[in-house]
Amino acid sequence: MPLSVLPPVIRAVIAVSLAAAVSCAPGASSTPADPGEADAPDRSPQAQHETPARTVVVLTFDDGLARQARAAELLRKHGLTATFYVSSGLLGEPGRLTWRQVDELARAGHEIGGHTLSHARLDRLPPKEQRREICADRRALTARGHDARTLAYPHGAAGPETARIAAECGYLGARAGTAKKPENADPFAVPVALTVTADTTRRAMERAVLAGERRGGQVTLVFHDVCADCGEYAVDPAALDGFLGWLAARRARGTRVLPMAQALKDAGIVAGGSAGAAAPTRGPDADAPARR
Ligand SMILES: [Zn+2]
Repeated sequence: MPLSVLPPVIRAVIAVSLAAAVSCAPGASSTPADPGEADAPDRSPQAQHETPARTVVVLTFDDGLARQARAAELLRKHGLTATFYVSSGLLGEPGRLTWRQVDELARAGHEIGGHTLSHARLDRLPPKEQRREICADRRALTARGHDARTLAYPHGAAGPETARIAAECGYLGARAGTAKKPENADPFAVPVALTVTADTTRRAMERAVLAGERRGGQVTLVFHDVCADCGEYAVDPAALDGFLGWLAARRARGTRVLPMAQALKDAGIVAGGSAGAAAPTRGPDADAPARR
């Protein structure tokens, strides 16, 4: 990754994104922190009115869970778009979205991103298996017509080879989980500000956004299931509805809500602004068998 060549202003964009210990779906090795709960002053009138330019909120929904159809309804209600990270090999299984539902999400303006073929924990796989999980997943998505530009590492876990492999598979960037040092603007290690769990209040979600607004830069939120009292990694639809309504109103203050790929492009973290543009880190041919 030629990260060192990124200009400081671009590095700063990602640097300001607060990253908490993050996980993805049950079975993660650590419990996600909820930094918002500790930031009591964030809702002061002053904080509410300070909105530096270029704050971008990225809403991500992981695992292709069937009940995320409810999230899509709420996003439509509030005029927002998000990124849905799906594991293509699991689509259509009980509790998961179907391919047709994924198609509908894309038609509604949401980004469809990769999440590996089988929700693999990449840091525990040899490079060859990582490549299969990442590349085959992306090929399945693109074959269906979804131009998957970013992926999310399951459990936020990546090994030392993972970013390079993801780039060679054709991705522009990837959402990681754990915090990166502030000077790191690696498009393949986009940090997460908050992973929402059943214990996360609407106010905590708002505080994560407000904290990002004070710093500027990107605020990435992670959601999984969407239902009341149905699991540790679920957001109550009522809380999500309230939060999205609040977030939509923040746009009047300059905060934008974009899918991941668009956010990375707008921030200059990856090249281009059109769908066909390739990032400098991208492999020459994402689907070339010779590279696998
Ligand atoms: Zn996941």
